[in-house]
Amino acid sequence: MTGRFDTHSEDQTRLLASQLAATLAPGAVLLLSGDLGAGKTAFVRGLAEGLGFDTREVTSPTFTLVHEYRGGRLPLIHVDLYRLDRADLDEIGLDPDVAADGVVAVEWPERLVRGVRGAIAIRIEDGGEDERRITIEATPVSGYSMR
Ligand code: ADP
Ligand code: MG
Repeated sequence: MTGRFDTHSEDQTRLLASQLAATLAPGAVLLLSGDLGAGKTAFVRGLAEGLGFDTREVTSPTFTLVHEYRGGRLPLIHVDLYRLDRADLDEIGLDPDVAADGVVAVEWPERLVRGVRGAIAIRIEDGGEDERRITIEATPVSGYSMR
């Protein structure tokens, strides 16, 4: 599921994310870029919804770096790199087996020191008030993998 989508509310963004979640296979990595308040965490909440989690659990992991949710169709690993200058997914304590079997969603992927092979890039632009433009695209399969 790729393309450009305009949403007009947080609910619509969550719905879009939950539809994307239904298409994801184990090992999917989503790189979520956009300014503070763009809706990256809201998008992750929608992913969680689509994977069958209770989304009240999903909060911004800004202070914890990594949150793992288990018990849905696939495990969801939510990573927020905001507080790091540079980060390497191999070195922040992701369980590689859970990452390979689940979905990894990364906020602030600009902090990564290297790309992730085959990741899905999601860019959220704030169009003012509740308007958001969300671009979902596949990145090239060449490059580096997390493992
Ligand atoms: P980020 O994680 O990118 O910093 P959050 O998801 O925490 O952003 O916050 C997004 C904020 O924008 C929330 O308060 C949400 O209610 C609001 N919002 C308004 N319109 C939208 C929309 N169309 N999509 C997503 N969030 C929206
Ligand atoms: Mg956030």
